[in-house]
Amino acid sequence: MLKAIYPGSFDPVTLGHEDIIRRSSRLVDELIVGVLNNKAKSPLFSVEERVKMLEEVTKDLANVRIIPFGGLLVDFARRMDAGMIIRGLRAITDFEYELQMSQMNHKMEAGVETVFLTTSLEYSYLSSSTVKEVAAFGGDISQFVPDVVADRITEKMNKKESVD
Ligand code: ADP
Repeated sequence: MLKAIYPGSFDPVTLGHEDIIRRSSRLVDELIVGVLNNKAKSPLFSVEERVKMLEEVTKDLANVRIIPFGGLLVDFARRMDAGMIIRGLRAITDFEYELQMSQMNHKMEAGVETVFLTTSLEYSYLSSSTVKEVAAFGGDISQFVPDVVADRITEKMNKKESVD
């Protein structure tokens, strides 16, 4: 059985992430979307919120599970008994970092291979951080994220404004 992990912060999940999830779920028997619980990054959404949004976005995909994790990705892969890591590649700027990470991970755990899917053209400019920037200035982000995320991000920004 081919089990893969697609790891990331998903703060929040964008249409680019969703595209990679849907495409990679067709390549493997089971896809685990690993949601990084990294408090140092001070995310906009808590890990529980990010997991919930991903669950809603992927509810029609029977072989996809959403699981939060902390620590080393290769340790998580080992715990999940997954032999593959999926990463998405956008522009050349992603490449250098991703190459380094995949080689480092392979050195630490030779049983885990990293597989890259290139972004679909229509999402190649999309990232969670640019979506957050646009939302922070009141821009319409509905064309960049799944509907469930668009609603939550607006709520979150309104709450933030009333606190700031
Ligand atoms: P990280 O916190 O590791 O940067 P992200 O949540 O930003 O993770 O992204 C997780 C994965 O999804 C990474 O492999 C990233 O390259 C990929 N990704 C992000 N946005 C897109 C997109 N628009 N198209 C394809 N892949 C993407």
